[in-house]
Amino acid sequence: MEKILDVQQLTVSFDTYAGEVQAVRGVSFHLNKGETLAIVGESGSGKSVTIQSVMGLLPTPPARLKQGKILFKGVDIAQYSEKQMEKLRGKEISMIFQDPMTSLNPTMKIGRQIMEGIQKHEKLSSKEARARAIEMLSMVGIPNPESNMERYPHQFSGGMRQRVMIAIALACNSQVLLADEPTTALDVTMQAQILQLMNELKQTLGTAIVLITHDMGVVAHMADRIAVMYGGCIVESGTAEEIFYDPKHPYTWGLLQSMPSLTGKSSKRLSVIPGSPPDMLMPPKGCAFAARCGYCMHICQEEAPPSFNIVDQHQAACWLLDPSAPKVERPHLQH
Ligand code: SF4
Ligand code: MG
Repeated sequence: MEKILDVQQLTVSFDTYAGEVQAVRGVSFHLNKGETLAIVGESGSGKSVTIQSVMGLLPTPPARLKQGKILFKGVDIAQYSEKQMEKLRGKEISMIFQDPMTSLNPTMKIGRQIMEGIQKHEKLSSKEARARAIEMLSMVGIPNPESNMERYPHQFSGGMRQRVMIAIALACNSQVLLADEPTTALDVTMQAQILQLMNELKQTLGTAIVLITHDMGVVAHMADRIAVMYGGCIVESGTAEEIFYDPKHPYTWGLLQSMPSLTGKSSKRLSVIPGSPPDMLMPPKGCAFAARCGYCMHICQEEAPPSFNIVDQHQAACWLLDPSAPKVERPHLQH
């Protein structure tokens, strides 16, 4: 598998009046060509800050990229100037957000917006750009693309706007699509349609996707590999199969327990992990999950757990995996 993106030891802080918020603390992950990596975790775990760093969209200041490499095709783009990033964004790496209205221009027709995106990166005549825009709109399932080119963003439904955003994101054949909660604002039916569209585009265009979500149900439908984030760190990562069928970290257990059964037939009540995420102004010196973990041991409060290798491609940072730790039984997880 060829790595297209390789993030190493990414560390990002925000300077605030109250002090330094340590949003991302030594995060490493990679994305292979043509696969979907889901980064999952509660809000405030550092997921969005992580992919905003990759996209070069962090507001600096107050954000500071303190450490780390972001290798895109082997080149460290963390060192890129804003000018260099502008050439990359929308051309090689694209991003879609939860609310397309924040990135669409409400005063400009949809067609013009897609054409501008294309012409920013490629020397095409208006006629050629128009043809490409129409092709993209039909590829993402917008009916009557020629007449819809002439409409404004507010004339589309939320789901259709998200399709338009995807058309813009992929119009220049980006090889990486970063998607931050792309379906959270949509109803269940729309959500399923957009996820299916993303899967289809991954198949036909070979786009590699980093999908950020807090929803394990979405992860189950999309991910080849999964990275679980908590308190600014990746606490477990592995193939979707490993994470769903042999999860090792108590936080991952909690996430899976809070997921409705994949068959949707379960009547069991969802368990929600009690407690709240750590204060990133003063992250705990030991395991960030200690205050909420039902398995917490003395060492957990003293020392941050290292990352243990379970099998190739499956790691988890939890003291329970230390050979000298007591054996515990994982809670029952339904699938
Ligand atoms: Fe729980 Fe300790 Fe593992 Fe942290 S290291 S998740 S506190 S058992
Ligand atoms: Mg977020």
